[in-house]
Amino acid sequence: MKALNRKVDEFLKEHEKEVVDFCSKLVQAGGENPPGDVTKVAKVVETFLDKHGVSYKRYEPRKGHVNILATVGKGTPKIILCGHIDVVPAGDPKHWKVPPYSGTIEDGKIYGRGASDMKGGVASMLMASAALACLEKELSGTAVLAVVCDEEDNGPAGAHWLLKNHKLDGDVCLITEPTGYLHSQYSIIGGERGNLWVRLIAKGKPAHGSTPAFGKNAILLLIKALKKLDMLEAMPVKTPKDAKALVRNGKLDMTRTAKGMGIRPKELTRTMDHYTVNIGTIKGGTKTNVVPEQCEAEIDIRIPAGGHPDAVEEFIKFITSKDFEYQITNRTLASYTPANEPLVKILQKHGKNVLGYKPQAIYMAATSDAHSFRETLGIPTISFGPGYGEVNHAYNEFVNAKDVVDATKIYAHTILDYSQR
Ligand SMILES: [Zn+2]
Repeated sequence: MKALNRKVDEFLKEHEKEVVDFCSKLVQAGGENPPGDVTKVAKVVETFLDKHGVSYKRYEPRKGHVNILATVGKGTPKIILCGHIDVVPAGDPKHWKVPPYSGTIEDGKIYGRGASDMKGGVASMLMASAALACLEKELSGTAVLAVVCDEEDNGPAGAHWLLKNHKLDGDVCLITEPTGYLHSQYSIIGGERGNLWVRLIAKGKPAHGSTPAFGKNAILLLIKALKKLDMLEAMPVKTPKDAKALVRNGKLDMTRTAKGMGIRPKELTRTMDHYTVNIGTIKGGTKTNVVPEQCEAEIDIRIPAGGHPDAVEEFIKFITSKDFEYQITNRTLASYTPANEPLVKILQKHGKNVLGYKPQAIYMAATSDAHSFRETLGIPTISFGPGYGEVNHAYNEFVNAKDVVDATKIYAHTILDYSQR
């Protein structure tokens, strides 16, 4: 082990309890979104950074919607670590075994809303920066710790604002969102699907319910069109060569999950290389005895690597006639960072050292902030962090204290090795 890595380990050994307590304090500070006011959480972050001598800038594009950019080191390469401090609402406190903002530490677990998604990841990345700040003079390269708001409500004042206003840039980005499962291993998420959200509106002609032939039934028109979406789901999509490893690993991961949940694996694995359609809402009609004049559905179509929102839009045009209108309400490209990217390899090496196994780089079915970094900055971007898919946004959310400590070590060594290459 190199001298700097040894110093980092010594520092982290002495600060294991502190990072767990810090995570608990971040949980206690709340930050529910909506409304998305993270002032208290930001204060906890600032106090921590002041204590450890890490310099930072604070941006508040909207009152209470605070972002903090902390920096360690200088020059290139520049690695960004990014985590959000807002949380989804706790829901009914009666369903919690401890108060949701108590940050209770019990049996090696930190409990509370946001513990897993993602105060654990934020605590880990900031403690990693504190470890590196002690060695600042010996470091080459820069680590930027982006602590952002507005992730849970798709709000514009968080990472999107920082990117759009050129406050944040770097050569690579590691998002510290939770990427584990309680019943499986940790993965590195290297790619994600895009999406196209469509509001599809069928326009009919009202008439008396006793003589439907006088009118045109908008509900039936819409149902016919929606059935044709099966064709989109069945369409084969060619996975680009450099995304193949991610998709293959994603399928293996989904097969394990499917088996654990008693679902046919193919139902899940097909999300890796096919379009999928969710008809999310439907509303239409006027009254029982009136031929419906209008019917509309909101549809969430997800786009795999190799697919494109434009192709989906073409398909929507193809299945609809002059009796339809549509509006696109969300449009995101599928994106990925290949599994052989150096940052992935370095993270895997330290993952193996700390966790005892090599976390695999996978593609995922959903969409996250990572695509903004890939699109806006054009840089390799991956996600890896403490916490579990099963407990995010759920009652009795928790994160294992050991996982927060482990992630801190992995982050600190990954930053160090990436910048010392
Ligand atoms: Zn999150």
